[in-house]
Amino acid sequence: MIEIPLVQLPVEPAVSCSNCAACCCQLEVMLITDTGVPQRFIDTDDWGGEVMRRLDDNWCAALDRDTMRCSIYEQRPLICREFEMSSAECLEERRGMSDIYR
Ligand code: SF4
Ligand code: SF4
Repeated sequence: MIEIPLVQLPVEPAVSCSNCAACCCQLEVMLITDTGVPQRFIDTDDWGGEVMRRLDDNWCAALDRDTMRCSIYEQRPLICREFEMSSAECLEERRGMSDIYR
């Protein structure tokens, strides 16, 4: 009888915002509708458009750095609402920061 060795495959955690270090909150977010984002989090880009203000390390100024959650969730921009968890864009962002997401 041939013995087939058992190989333990690594268990990949399911993609979830709760096990992610808010990877997508480093992307530029344009404000294309008024969702009530507080003025202190709004910046103007080189073309005069409104964008979410980002800090020197690129993360959105509205990100709560203790919890890595959006501090203005109810007023978050449309683009943030439409960014789908597990989408190709989401997976790409997570891959780009695979050394830090939880
Ligand atoms: S949408 Fe994707 S990249 Fe953004 S916080 Fe959730 S899991 Fe992370
Ligand atoms: S507004 Fe909130 S969800 Fe959108 S990028 Fe900033 S912290 Fe992330």
